[in-house]
Amino acid sequence: MSSFDVAIVGGGAIGAAIACELAAEDLRVVVVDRQQPGLEASWAAAGMLSPAPDSPRDIPLVPLGLESLRLYPNFVAGIEEDCGKSVSYARDGAIEILLAPHGETERDQKVAEYRLLGVAAEAISPEAAREREKFCGAAAQAALWLPEEGSVEPRLLIGALLDAARNRGVTIRGGSRVSGLVYEKNRCAGVTAGGEKIAAGQVVVAAGCFSAQFAESDPRLARLMPTRPVRGQMIALRPEGFALGRVLRSERGYLVPRRDGRVVAGSTKEEAGFEKRVTAGGIRKVLDAAIELCPALAGAEIAETWSGLRPGTPDDLPILGPCDVEGLLIATGHYRNGILLTPVTAKLICDWIVHGRTFFEAFDAEAFSPLRFGRAESSRTQTA
Ligand SMILES: Cc1cc2nc3c(=O)[nH]c(=O)nc-3n(C[C@H](O)[C@H](O)[C@H](O)COP(=O)(O)OP(=O)(O)OC[C@H]3O[C@@H](n4cnc5c(N)ncnc54)[C@H](O)[C@@H]3O)c2cc1C
Repeated sequence: MSSFDVAIVGGGAIGAAIACELAAEDLRVVVVDRQQPGLEASWAAAGMLSPAPDSPRDIPLVPLGLESLRLYPNFVAGIEEDCGKSVSYARDGAIEILLAPHGETERDQKVAEYRLLGVAAEAISPEAAREREKFCGAAAQAALWLPEEGSVEPRLLIGALLDAARNRGVTIRGGSRVSGLVYEKNRCAGVTAGGEKIAAGQVVVAAGCFSAQFAESDPRLARLMPTRPVRGQMIALRPEGFALGRVLRSERGYLVPRRDGRVVAGSTKEEAGFEKRVTAGGIRKVLDAAIELCPALAGAEIAETWSGLRPGTPDDLPILGPCDVEGLLIATGHYRNGILLTPVTAKLICDWIVHGRTFFEAFDAEAFSPLRFGRAESSRTQTA
């Protein structure tokens, strides 16, 4: 039986980044993935790094997003140094467009709300938006400039994380589904994968939207990780004769530039189970939003279409930290923000494992605890 300090279930951006962080602390780490690692949500993502909340439900996430954005430059530098590849990280700011008539009022409310939350934002006119991004369309009624935002190329990021992890001595086992946890006197002491037991002092579940499926096999894990897949369809466009300089978005969709000149357009939000089909309706929705944002894209070649499964949770917040099973930590449910939240998640989980605590003062451990769903259920039972 092989033996490690930490076994990580899932080799997406979250699992791979945690592995990198732990390996830098000289721990012996194994990442176990049921397929070739890095080909699920982390591969499909657009790569926007935006801590601005999309809805009131996102507000608890803002401090975490801001902290992750602060960590990003050093995080990327460390990974790029250890794997010798670029992840195409850029901090060029983003433009948010408001489409409703008299969008200025809504825009000014957003600016005030963002600033209160610590998110840098500036009200700008549609003309000023076009000065920053020449190809921004005429549908814009008002605009916001978000100077701190940026992007990264998720496929490069996940490849670099896995390479950096290997270079730091992490064992990566692809094609090996984890079917359950191993217990010793009620303590989690490893995992079972492909019929083999892998002993580990600590186990981290980072299985993205598949975490709930994994938990189904074990009554002790019920309620700790109620994830579900939320499908997002994407299109890569290859514009002719122009390139986009930064992220452009509206309430209907977004555009993210790639280093090779392509523009990634997203996305739908669909409850379609684990079905990863790309549909005519989905593509139409994404294209309509893209061309509304940037009419010049109407002539662009469609270079690629794909879809991915975001790890959603009942309250749209990630599930992070230790739980009531000793030796088990959860890092899943990052929904629409897992690429943004990769550095802070890796740091939080590593601090819990190495130091038994987190050092990020603004972190609301209760709001993100794996135990919160069980608590909600028992308080419902008591009041019923
Ligand atoms: C279309 C789309 C656009 C997005 N855009 C953005 C964006 O712009 N910005 C942003 O911040 N976020 C974005 N996201 C969200 C982000 O991609 C996810 O939150 C993040 O990638 C989740 O990472 P993960 O490692 O938890 O999951 P995943 O990348 O899904 O990895 C989970 C891994 O676990 C493995 N696994 C599952 N079950 C088992 C098992 N039993 N045993 C072993 N291995 C197992 C899987 O094979 C997989 O490799 C987007 C997502 C999608 C789908």
